[in-house]
Amino acid sequence: MSADDYEVLHEDFRRKIRFSAAVERLFTGCRWAEGPAYFPAHRALIWSDVPNDRMLRFDETDGSVSVFRGPSNYSNGNTVDRQGRLVTCEHGTRRVTRTEHDGSITVLADRFEGRRFNSPNDVVVRRDGSIWFTDPTYGIDCDYEGYRADPEMDGSHVYRIDPADGKITRVADDFEKPNGLAFSPDERLLYVADTGATHRPDGPRHIRRFAVDERGKLSGGEIFASLSDAMFDGFRIDSDGRIWTSAGEGVNCYAPDGRLTGRIRIGETVANLVFGGPKRNRLFICATTSLYSVLIAVNGDKTF
Ligand code: MG
Repeated sequence: MSADDYEVLHEDFRRKIRFSAAVERLFTGCRWAEGPAYFPAHRALIWSDVPNDRMLRFDETDGSVSVFRGPSNYSNGNTVDRQGRLVTCEHGTRRVTRTEHDGSITVLADRFEGRRFNSPNDVVVRRDGSIWFTDPTYGIDCDYEGYRADPEMDGSHVYRIDPADGKITRVADDFEKPNGLAFSPDERLLYVADTGATHRPDGPRHIRRFAVDERGKLSGGEIFASLSDAMFDGFRIDSDGRIWTSAGEGVNCYAPDGRLTGRIRIGETVANLVFGGPKRNRLFICATTSLYSVLIAVNGDKTF
């Protein structure tokens, strides 16, 4: 009954899905599945199971799943950089790391102006090699997704790591709980979710959109899309600029003008997703206990 998997609100969405392509559950047994990253060279997906302190690996060639890294320092968001290396947000160590080709781990960011980060949550790499990440407090609020601690920072902000010298810049400081983030295909726009409603009932449940200049400076920041009950966590953008985002127990699709065009029903709370497969037309979806996938009729802008 794959037609039940979709809710079409606009003709554009109907053209981008295939009713004959059902949502498949690929793996279950996680506590909070997050941070999917697809590696084309390996035909594998790596994702985080945050409370279980492990990273899992799905092999697309035979469907098998194994533990990639455990313990994982309570890893959360992951991405792939321009050189095909894994970049990871770690709650437990409150840092962003890169796994090198030889398997060693390089710390890219663990402090800003002498203070430890809260718990880096999600990360994206721009074509220029700069690494952008969000730093809400979810990994230090309690022991469930990391280690409980008092924040050293004066808030939850968005940061950029310079590709030339590794210098860290705070690029946005007016979020309550910045979370998922992604660039438009031309990288002139940056979208960032705010899940502030986890800590304040009337708090943000929206995605904001910024303009990015050549030096990586942000301007604008208007609200692009909002929800009334659920929240946006992680999301990715297709090659035409549509936003495919976690939105409660499903994936919402927004046109670049902000119009909601449709929804893929998943049935448990979605945390994040990524385009994968050799053609980047397979959405891998991390939703609470499980990893799902669905083939759609549009390709991801990039796998990271
Ligand atoms: Mg997140």
